[in-house]
Amino acid sequence: MTAKLGYQPSFLWRSLIAARPTILEGTAWRIGKGRKVQIFEDRWIGMTNFEKPTCRTNVINPTAKVSDLIDFDAKAWRFDFIRQNFKAHDANRICAMHLSSRLPEDKMLWRHSKNGQFSGKTAYYAIKSKSENAYSRYPSASNSNGAWKKIWQLRILSKIKHFIWKACLNALPTKYKLVEKNIAIDPICAICGEGPETLTHLMLECHEVIPVWLHSPLRIDPSLLSFGLFKNSLWCTMDTSPMDNTELLCITAWCIWTARNKLCFEHKPFNAENVLHELKMHSSSRTAT
Ligand SMILES: [Zn+2]
Repeated sequence: MTAKLGYQPSFLWRSLIAARPTILEGTAWRIGKGRKVQIFEDRWIGMTNFEKPTCRTNVINPTAKVSDLIDFDAKAWRFDFIRQNFKAHDANRICAMHLSSRLPEDKMLWRHSKNGQFSGKTAYYAIKSKSENAYSRYPSASNSNGAWKKIWQLRILSKIKHFIWKACLNALPTKYKLVEKNIAIDPICAICGEGPETLTHLMLECHEVIPVWLHSPLRIDPSLLSFGLFKNSLWCTMDTSPMDNTELLCITAWCIWTARNKLCFEHKPFNAENVLHELKMHSSSRTAT
């Protein structure tokens, strides 16, 4: 009993144990051939917000691989089989996932880094973000009230404030968000065609968007801003930088969203230089709220 009382796990060990769920949550398989990935055991659907798919029949073996859902001749999902055997929500999510026609090997990705590679630095930010989320997940939380007030005080156009408000609530209709709402569309980012279009991908991780941040007046590497959720990135900037920088971050995010919409709805190619031009115009008219 004395030994138990005297036992204390080291700080490092406790940190690693505590971080394990965050590390696991940050990994997911990108499906190629689907031969390495178990349908019901591994994290793979949609890359984020993983939920295990639910079958409505008992046709599929519990240890079946994702490759069982792929038609290798057609290089496409077995749509009918998937719709017959999975609940509608899961069938829609699977069928909406992009399958490369080359059917490469499956690849384990770390979604907190730009290139999908795990690193200590990005793990640190992911863990930090997780602990911050525990305190600031809801905008109505007392520690967020000040942040919301600050947003409304920014010297930016009202339409940009509303955009930021929706972005912080993760309520913008990104492709991934629409798939989560059971709308059968391809969730892949229209700008780069490489990752699911979550708000975090679109704003901070998309390799076509990164030059906008690097050449903006903020001149920042967006991976340093990527605290899991867009809201956390904004909160962190507000806490640590002058108001001017928060305004520039908001305007930059809005210009990226506008350019994305022009690509999706008007088929105008996304061009970082055009976005920077828009950003310059909006930045100079900042006080016209
Ligand atoms: Zn992208």
